Amino acid sequence: MGKDGQSRRPGATLSLIQKVRGTRDFFGADEALFARVESAALAAFRRYGIRQVRTPIFEETSLFTRSIGEETDIVSKEMYTFADRKGRSLSLRPEGTAPVVRFLIEEKIQITDTLKVFYLGPMFRYDRPQAGRYRQFHQFGIEYFGAASAAADAEVIAVGRSLLAKLGIESRTRLLLNSVGCPACRPAYMEKLQSFLRARSAELCEDCRGRIDANPLRCLDCKREACAKTYEESPKISSTLCDACRRHDETLKELLADAGIAFAAADRLVRGLDYYVRTVFEFVTSDLGAQDAVIAGGRYDGLVKSLGGPDVPATGFAGGIERLIELLKLNAPASDAQVSAGDVYLVSADSPELRRKAFRLTERLRSEGFSSVLPLLDGKSFKSQFRAADKSGARAVVILGEAESEKGCVSVKNMSSGEQVEIAEPDLPRLLETMGVPRS
Ligand code: ATP
Ligand code: MG
Repeated sequence: MGKDGQSRRPGATLSLIQKVRGTRDFFGADEALFARVESAALAAFRRYGIRQVRTPIFEETSLFTRSIGEETDIVSKEMYTFADRKGRSLSLRPEGTAPVVRFLIEEKIQITDTLKVFYLGPMFRYDRPQAGRYRQFHQFGIEYFGAASAAADAEVIAVGRSLLAKLGIESRTRLLLNSVGCPACRPAYMEKLQSFLRARSAELCEDCRGRIDANPLRCLDCKREACAKTYEESPKISSTLCDACRRHDETLKELLADAGIAFAAADRLVRGLDYYVRTVFEFVTSDLGAQDAVIAGGRYDGLVKSLGGPDVPATGFAGGIERLIELLKLNAPASDAQVSAGDVYLVSADSPELRRKAFRLTERLRSEGFSSVLPLLDGKSFKSQFRAADKSGARAVVILGEAESEKGCVSVKNMSSGEQVEIAEPDLPRLLETMGVPRS
């Protein structure tokens, strides 16, 4: 992102249009990793019976201010808010939970037992761009509605773990777990915390000092080292939890231990959004520097009701795709060469008649389900087409020369064994199949 900040000369003709600061393009190896994260997420969600919901990318601004909280960083300084042509205040979604809850309430979705949904797509926050922090980034997330049980929290955490395992990066992460209490027991804790913060305010950064009255819990999430050091001595919420919250927390920990899901109690873990109660958790990594959370979530029982819906409990998480991609790169360096354009590569003599025939044949292979490439440039020698086929990573090269064409045949070269055979054209799909070329 180094060039993003470049200033442009005013009045310069032909200035190059660059991507907006804090955004990214994905192509080649990066795109392949993006797709891998997506398909691992989809596979994990399918395994748990979680259904997709696709909501719009922008919403009325008040949806986010009311749900996430006016005093949070997201709402106070990170939202992309704009007036549309009729003067309505709209915002690009900074997160996925509020839109899902809005959908649920607006469509009067009946919640019998537990409703499990997931979303996946871009989110927008006007944050300071840096490694692992973008202004358009991508999240998947799951939301469970209707279940107040610790088992629902445990299952949500298990989904996250299963996804990380599927990607082969579970061992690069640790699960941190905490309870932030509920409206019954949190006020007592907030008071204790506030008196601690007031007594130590000289040691705190300006942001934290500003949060003491409005949102003291948020202080604990400060990323500055000096603040974090002070908070090591702050009162722990575990000492003020009510019986119900304590039981919930204990049950959750038992369920996780039974399922072999390792966790560490993190007494000062809080989330940057106001709507959480009881369980909060993060899968964090030590391998990505300061941006350490890859999947984060918790329980938000009051949110649906506070947005005008029924009183349903809820729990869920969101995961950051860019950060997971960076973890995958640590396991295996990304390489564009792994991305093949197609399994079958057509090579033909450079005559109009054979080019036409090759076009027809390639289309036929595609309709049979084989991913196939036909060089689209005229005037290429056999040799240069072969070189391109070799580089493309194709599994099989189909050769259509004058001699083959006259006999109604093609030659097929198996690119891993080097073996070449000539067969009648109609037998081609079957031969490709026996070579292990997949159909889709
Ligand atoms: P952080 O504490 O790192 O700012 P957060 O508390 O703002 O994260 P959530 O809103 O819970 O994060 O989002 C869940 C996940 O989405 C994060 O754990 C992270 O992986 C990812 N994420 C959040 N903000 C960004 C961003 N600006 N760029 C890239 N990924 C992000
Ligand atoms: Mg943040």
